[in-house]
Amino acid sequence: MRSSNENDSLIVKIKQNRKKFIQNRTKSSSIVLDKPVSFWIKEDRLLNKKGKEFTIILRTRGCSWALGDSGGCSMCGYIGDSNIDPVDPEQILHQFEYAMKAKEHEIISSKDDFVLKIFNSGSFFDDEEIPENIRAKIYDKIKNYDKIKEVVIESRAEYLTESKLDAIQNALQDKYVEVAIGLESVDDHIRNNYINKGLLYDDFLKAVELCKEFNLGIRVYLLFKPPFLNEQAAIDDCINSVNTLINLHVNTISINPVNIQKGSYVEYLWYQNRYRPPWFYSLIKALKKILLSRRDEISTRIISDPSGAGTKRGIHNCLKRECNENMLSLLRNFVITQNVEDLLKDVPKCDCKLEYKLKKLYM
Ligand code: SF4
Ligand SMILES: [Zn+2]
Repeated sequence: MRSSNENDSLIVKIKQNRKKFIQNRTKSSSIVLDKPVSFWIKEDRLLNKKGKEFTIILRTRGCSWALGDSGGCSMCGYIGDSNIDPVDPEQILHQFEYAMKAKEHEIISSKDDFVLKIFNSGSFFDDEEIPENIRAKIYDKIKNYDKIKEVVIESRAEYLTESKLDAIQNALQDKYVEVAIGLESVDDHIRNNYINKGLLYDDFLKAVELCKEFNLGIRVYLLFKPPFLNEQAAIDDCINSVNTLINLHVNTISINPVNIQKGSYVEYLWYQNRYRPPWFYSLIKALKKILLSRRDEISTRIISDPSGAGTKRGIHNCLKRECNENMLSLLRNFVITQNVEDLLKDVPKCDCKLEYKLKKLYM
């Protein structure tokens, strides 16, 4: 993708900011590299019912987009989770096996079905991060677990090829596989000039078509309140993006409110008081507007599981615990039930609503 002058200056700033962060990364010991960054089980929404998620974060050499000349996306600090050198592919497999073994009993004995999410803070289909033979071995392991009904992996659109999609589809035929792509916004200008995603909407559409060809589900990540947008602009961008993606019949939309990640350009803006993470009021407002206007015609699952919610770095209203917990429980209930009525429930009013209304065009 050709970059504009505006984008060039953003790249310079992202790279300056990230350079120090990358230099400070330490090399992980061999023992650490045999274990994933983290893994957990918690309640989640499956395609058509409640269930549980089993998430595994693998440690690889890191995202090629962030390691390359582009400097990566403006809100992303995932490179901090990666290893300074390439990780031996067998160790990536060990990481996966370690997590599976640790949670095997819980999965087998659970009355719920599971969605397995394998994340690597980069792209699952990038051969530089996870080679083909390791991906194949991971598929082989997953096959043994009947309780795992859905599998989600994430990748930048450029790594999706016919052979890779064919391989995962063939290996996991009896499971619902969803390929997650970070689109962030349907607006090319916002995505490339404010986020530095290096992805055109047309190329995203090609990736969607390819997934449909191989009968794979599509999950799209949207970034809620990218840098340089105020609250109202963030609401408008979210509504526009979600509506466009519903019309495209993607399977899942995951809305990710910005959380201030270490080493990211957004963190630099935040330290300078030039960025504030989104207010909960804005996200709830955007969701209500979308869902109430299209009540019965939405077949897309809409989810959101904000990191750092209620803290200074994550989505928050004022910093009163109760105020954020009320909002988070509205959001969580809606995600699990997919019923807009859960967003309309009354919660105790907080004084900060007035401040939000007065400032939402300026923050
Ligand atoms: S958001 Fe994704 S594509 Fe962008 S730098 Fe982070 S890991 Fe790479
Ligand atoms: Zn409040």
